[in-house]
Amino acid sequence: MPLIPPGSTIGILGGGQLGRMLAIAAAELGYHAHIYCPEKDAPAGEVAKFTTIAAYEDLSTLEVFARSVDVVTYEFENIPHAPVEHLAKFIPVRPDPAVLAICQHRVLEKQTVNKLSIPTAAFRPVSSLEDLKEAAAVLGLPAILKTARMGYDGKGQWKVMSHEPQVMSRVIAESGLSAHDRQSRTHGAPFILESFVPFRMEISLIAARDAKGTIICYDAVQNIHKHHILSETIAPAPIAPALARKAKAMTEAIAEGIGLVGLVAVEMFVTDKDEILVNELAPRPHNSGHWTIDACANSQFEQIIRAICGLPLGSTERLCDARMLNLIGDDINDWQKYLAMPNARLHVYGKKEARPGRKMGHVTFLGD
Ligand code: AMP
Repeated sequence: MPLIPPGSTIGILGGGQLGRMLAIAAAELGYHAHIYCPEKDAPAGEVAKFTTIAAYEDLSTLEVFARSVDVVTYEFENIPHAPVEHLAKFIPVRPDPAVLAICQHRVLEKQTVNKLSIPTAAFRPVSSLEDLKEAAAVLGLPAILKTARMGYDGKGQWKVMSHEPQVMSRVIAESGLSAHDRQSRTHGAPFILESFVPFRMEISLIAARDAKGTIICYDAVQNIHKHHILSETIAPAPIAPALARKAKAMTEAIAEGIGLVGLVAVEMFVTDKDEILVNELAPRPHNSGHWTIDACANSQFEQIIRAICGLPLGSTERLCDARMLNLIGDDINDWQKYLAMPNARLHVYGKKEARPGRKMGHVTFLGD
């Protein structure tokens, strides 16, 4: 892979806070960032040298964008896949669009992970009411019905507690599954039913892999969710070293197995029996890696730039323990409190309006 040196321009699809922190890391290494997103006033646009505001499906604008950058990455996985594939005809896209396709569909994602002999929750693809009933009978309940695509922060998920017809009908009505009954299956099932995992802890690991195949991981962290949204990340995760090593080996096998060039975050459940089940992959910077900005030798954002530009990967050494707290909605009003704390590092994303459930910033507490 040819080296993309400082002074080059990194194209970033998506204009949210992840794109913003990526653009800041790019600038620190002497790169320019060019954000491409449909929204005006996107948090990333404020800190990038160039911004294009256009629909992802606007192929002619995408081609102009492609000519203005040296490499393209993306800051979230819910971008339509076809435009990303189109871009890849003109300019290197890292991680590869094939990796994005895996992470965009929960069934394909779990099948890919299972093929690497790594366990996930038991699951069944669901395309119709009959599929749902059959899957519930095979997997047992409780289970979670999820949209196969586009879900995030618990959106597009329904817990199925009972086989009773009224309960099933309610889940079907809420999910809109009946509307998909007659849909073609060419793009994979629209839903997935997963066994409910009574986990004792949620953890995640982030791995970077370069084009030569070198893989480097950050420490495993614990994630605590509130209302299905990540609330806190504790680094390192309070788990036994052997379990952390097992989670790391799984993450490395996934990074290798999907042919990653870039970054992948692997979300996992840890059960009472110390089993580890992979829940989800994200081929991009991840909220559970924000602590690395302040507490590691190199942040997850810098690491992506290194991986996709052919630079040597940086050390992921944890310089101190850390706890990251997301500031969601009105939590951001406490900014002065965090500024006054000597061990707190405040990050504000510059979003205009603090809506409930909206990630407005985060704070990382360093040390114990
Ligand atoms: P996801 O969108 O798959 O990351 O799910 C969001 C959150 O819902 C996870 O972080 C878990 O807290 C919970 N969750 C998702 N899938 C399951 C499952 N199969 N069993 C138990 N909890 C789950």
